[in-house]
Amino acid sequence: MSTPPIAPGATIGIIGGGQLGRMIAVAAAQYGLKAHIYCPDPDSPAFEVAGRRTVAAYDDAAALQAFADSVDVVTYEFENIPRAAAEILAARRPLHPSASALATTQDRLTEKSFVAGLGIPVAPFRAVDDAAGLKDAVEEIGLPAVLKTRRFGYDGKGQVMLRDAVPDPAAVMASLRDQPCILEGFVAFEAEVSVVAARNAEGGFSAYDPCANEHRHHILARTIVPAPGMTPETAAEAMAIARTIADALDYVGVLAVEMFLVRGPDGRASVVVNEIAPRVHNSGHWTIEGAETSQFAQHVRAICGWPLGSPALTGRSVEMLNLIGDQAGDWTRILAEPGRHLHLYGKGEARPGRKMGHVTRVTTGA
Ligand code: AMP
Repeated sequence: MSTPPIAPGATIGIIGGGQLGRMIAVAAAQYGLKAHIYCPDPDSPAFEVAGRRTVAAYDDAAALQAFADSVDVVTYEFENIPRAAAEILAARRPLHPSASALATTQDRLTEKSFVAGLGIPVAPFRAVDDAAGLKDAVEEIGLPAVLKTRRFGYDGKGQVMLRDAVPDPAAVMASLRDQPCILEGFVAFEAEVSVVAARNAEGGFSAYDPCANEHRHHILARTIVPAPGMTPETAAEAMAIARTIADALDYVGVLAVEMFLVRGPDGRASVVVNEIAPRVHNSGHWTIEGAETSQFAQHVRAICGWPLGSPALTGRSVEMLNLIGDQAGDWTRILAEPGRHLHLYGKGEARPGRKMGHVTRVTTGA
């Protein structure tokens, strides 16, 4: 059963007040939609560009209910929303992506099992609940391997690289606060790539060209499109994987599928899925100037039941650089360089490792 589209003038409720929420709200405004942001932090960057704000905790049932009642559709900009909160919202308003898509992707074990169950390549993995489990998993999977907490990991937080024998598994588990974990075999990748894609309730699907992502200190530093080393066949395979995942989740909205580009002994490139982000994604920021439809506009279109826009590149290639910490202090120099598109998120203090903004350059011509 298809629901009527959300019309301009309606209000999008956004859970989370960071830069992703801010850029969704700006895209909503372009289409004559209003935004209401819900975030516990009174200094949230998204508040500055939205007409309405709620400052409340994610477990405040009354605040969540009042928020849902004040909007026409609810979305979110980060995946660590408590399940109970998602259910409260979904009971009152359409929630996109759905509470079940959220549940599948917020736990690395559920997510990896789901992706593997679709026949999509992933690193070998095992659930690890305690020190004994870690010892067994290391024996099965071998080393090197990466131990990750099942939940709440981001930007390399909540994970430990295991290179050599693990003499004291209990100490390793303690370093991750004895949380339930997953052990993954180390993938000797050539590059990290991602596919940012959108799906709407009618099953319409649209993927941007895969991009290559370079990290520094576990934080995304640079994204480039097209991804070097990816043939058209590998790119098509990566985009088809994103579609299989989106269809299987009955997904509505933008998602990012992070993958490793690997090369077999025969020299053939292929991809291995690392994780799914059920939201707009840092590796899609280049689409604001670099694609016909930005990932934020595309997300708004998808959650409102509108036709998806073209994901075509506006130029030949695109580069997006994150401005981390005091790199944002270079804004006058960046402004002075022709062809650079500066985005600042309006965050107060430029702490080390904090994403303060980004810069995009689109290369056109031959
Ligand atoms: P994640 O939080 O899963 O995105 O992991 C953060 C980063 O750790 C990735 O971007 C990779 O650089 C690295 N990494 C994670 N899992 C693996 C793996 N199984 N093999 C090799 N590198 C990994």
